[in-house]
Amino acid sequence: MTEPDSSKIQRSYKFRFYPTSVQRQQLAIEFGHARWVWNTCLTWRGHQYRVHDKCVSGVDFSRQLTFLKKLGAYGWLGEATRDCLMQKLRDQDTAFRNFFAGRAKHPKFKKRAHTQSIRYCFDHRHRGKIKAWMAGQLVLPKLGALKLKWSRRPQGIPKMVTVTQDGAGRYFISFMCEETIQPLPRKPNGIGVDLGVKDIVVTSEGWKSGNPRHLRTYRRLLTKTQRRLSRKVRGSDRWRRQRVRVAKAHARVSNTRQDWLHKLSTALIRQAGFIAMEDLNVRGMMANRRLSKALGDVGMHELKRQLEYKAKWYGREFVQVDRWAPTSKTCSACGTVQKAMPLNVREWTCPDCKSVHDRDINAARNILRLTTVGRTGSDARGGVYQPEVAYGC
Ligand SMILES: [Zn+2]
Repeated sequence: MTEPDSSKIQRSYKFRFYPTSVQRQQLAIEFGHARWVWNTCLTWRGHQYRVHDKCVSGVDFSRQLTFLKKLGAYGWLGEATRDCLMQKLRDQDTAFRNFFAGRAKHPKFKKRAHTQSIRYCFDHRHRGKIKAWMAGQLVLPKLGALKLKWSRRPQGIPKMVTVTQDGAGRYFISFMCEETIQPLPRKPNGIGVDLGVKDIVVTSEGWKSGNPRHLRTYRRLLTKTQRRLSRKVRGSDRWRRQRVRVAKAHARVSNTRQDWLHKLSTALIRQAGFIAMEDLNVRGMMANRRLSKALGDVGMHELKRQLEYKAKWYGREFVQVDRWAPTSKTCSACGTVQKAMPLNVREWTCPDCKSVHDRDINAARNILRLTTVGRTGSDARGGVYQPEVAYGC
């Protein structure tokens, strides 16, 4: 058996940084001017379309912008980095392309209260930036070196760096790097994954993830801060301060959830070479409200997304199984289907083969069995995974 080849992937990075007061002032200018350019261009496009029946692009607007900058009244546009303003126009062009292709909604006006973002080009033309990057520094025009903690050093050089400020007032940089990933050593086993309320994930090998109660605690914090916001006078100072608190609570909930999900998906990827999970059918989940709420809370779609890309990165296989199969009612040992299986039955004994089942582990075993039956073409009752056949080696 040969080890799988290392593969090139696009890895995204996001780091928080702490600007100095001078940098904060400059960033406020960059964000504000970029927002002005976006909104003005959007209005102009709409006007050109409605009145002159013309479709114009960001390139057309940038010509207008060069002209405006020369006028005294719009001289302030020169305070911002040209690169960032141009990038905003390019982004708007992309947004319109997606809209016309039916992939996205019509671009909207940007508001000050939303997350602010600007993007810097970072290609071979920018020698100084790249030299600093190699030395472990991030230098941006008009800002200088940014103070940031590299929790993990990126291997490559990004083509573009995005700077954002969220509603809670925190600053981040994010970018993508091409990197090589060494796949994990191959594992011959396969696991089935059942989703539930008491344990978010139960595998066919009997591993249970538990359900993080802290998520629920943070949710309560979120509802409380939101309730307080609704009691304050809109637009007042107290209201504004409370709104930052709401944004902070949101950030906390999503960070905690994201952290837990990453640990969970990595644990699953490490455990097996082949992972089978129930298909997430939102409408089906809605039928059972308690389950759908619990799963929505932890972000099942995010878990699926992580498992998908991590499987690709580390040379694992990930499949989803039709969730309409009676996985909890079927005995994973002999294959007989029970008539009914109420939700409160946690453990049961099969009347035919007398084996004792834990409800969730049994369901997970059936999920695995469903995939292996189709894959090996033989009767794989009992969920025995045959890697030689499946991998074809
Ligand atoms: Zn049985």
